[in-house]
Amino acid sequence: MVQISDKIRIIQGDIVKLEVDAVVNAANTTPLGGGGVDGAIHRAAGPELLEECRDLKGCVTGEAKITKVYLLPAKWVIHTVGPIWQGGQKGEDYLLASCYRKSLELAREHIIKTIAFPAISTGAYNFPSKRAAGIAVSEIIKFLQENELPERVILVSFNKETYQHLQQALSEIFVG
Ligand code: ADP
Repeated sequence: MVQISDKIRIIQGDIVKLEVDAVVNAANTTPLGGGGVDGAIHRAAGPELLEECRDLKGCVTGEAKITKVYLLPAKWVIHTVGPIWQGGQKGEDYLLASCYRKSLELAREHIIKTIAFPAISTGAYNFPSKRAAGIAVSEIIKFLQENELPERVILVSFNKETYQHLQQALSEIFVG
């Protein structure tokens, strides 16, 4: 039997280059393709992605929407809008968990086997990286325990610090 811990991988790298079924975009509420992951995904996917995103008419914080990928090597892009960090008393933890859960629900609906997440909200939106890593890892594990799909989740960090926080969060859950 496959263990839940075998279904999660943490890597350091550029999410747009991954050949997975779906990449998750840390999007903004308006579909204009900003900096960070959003900018990188739109640059790599080409202008048609922006067109499709315009038709989606934006996305509410904590929600997720799915589009095609155009020039990316993946098959789907799941766009989710993380919360802007405002000190922790404005429902940020709940909204961040919701981003992961709603993205995974969309993945399950579209029979997506492999999905890659960036560290949502930890860039321009300023969510503390360690706290975000704990929320990401526990929400993903909860979902994988209750669902067959996706089969594999990759957590992609751009820098060493995020990578270490994610590794730490994962080992705290599995070692106790
Ligand atoms: P947010 O607005 O949700 O904070 P950002 O895109 O600004 O989103 O940053 C989210 C995280 O993604 C940050 O940790 C940032 O370092 C990381 N990141 C930025 N570009 C990439 C990329 N191409 N691949 C993977 N991670 C990235």
